[in-house]
Amino acid sequence: MDKLIEGHKHFLSDVFPPRREQYKLLADRQSPRWLFITCADSRIVPDLILGTDPGDLFITRNAGNIVPAGSEGDDGVAATIEYAVEVLHVRHIILCGHSDCGALKAALDHKSLKNLPRARRWLNHVEGAFTHKQPPIPAEGEHAELAALIRGNVIAQLLNLRTQPSVTRAAANGELQVHGWYYDILSGNIEQYDEQQRKFLPLVS
Ligand SMILES: [Zn+2]
Repeated sequence: MDKLIEGHKHFLSDVFPPRREQYKLLADRQSPRWLFITCADSRIVPDLILGTDPGDLFITRNAGNIVPAGSEGDDGVAATIEYAVEVLHVRHIILCGHSDCGALKAALDHKSLKNLPRARRWLNHVEGAFTHKQPPIPAEGEHAELAALIRGNVIAQLLNLRTQPSVTRAAANGELQVHGWYYDILSGNIEQYDEQQRKFLPLVS
């Protein structure tokens, strides 16, 4: 715990004071512009890779950046999406998968989930990744198959996202756009799924 306590000391002494006015504005309200849905993986630090500040991103995370389909009942992801769209009126939802995702590795190797019944049930939601698996990229070498499946999962979860009632409504009214991203940990690059071309393209060219 020492690292966390030292980190918080640093925040209180060096980070917070120059931002006091910003935090004052945020103390009793928020108006984030984006809902960011990503994996629980420790290597994804949204504010670091996107240059965003407190108050910018409304975030929900889980193993595999999964969005259960809208018809599958209530869950924390659905509630977060509904709140973001209907109350916070975010204009964009970004669903971001990432390289070397343990959730998709586990989907390929069910044996690794032998003693994890809850994770096994949760990962039933990534089955759509196999349907939407992208062509492997040879340059990705031994990681190509997994990366292709992870990209497929982004597409599958994007389709699920569109079935959420609030998303369906707001997108139909032109109030909301949804985006599918793939973040590569090794290079730091983000790719965006182009629904017209049906492929992932660099976010920054
Ligand atoms: Zn992951």
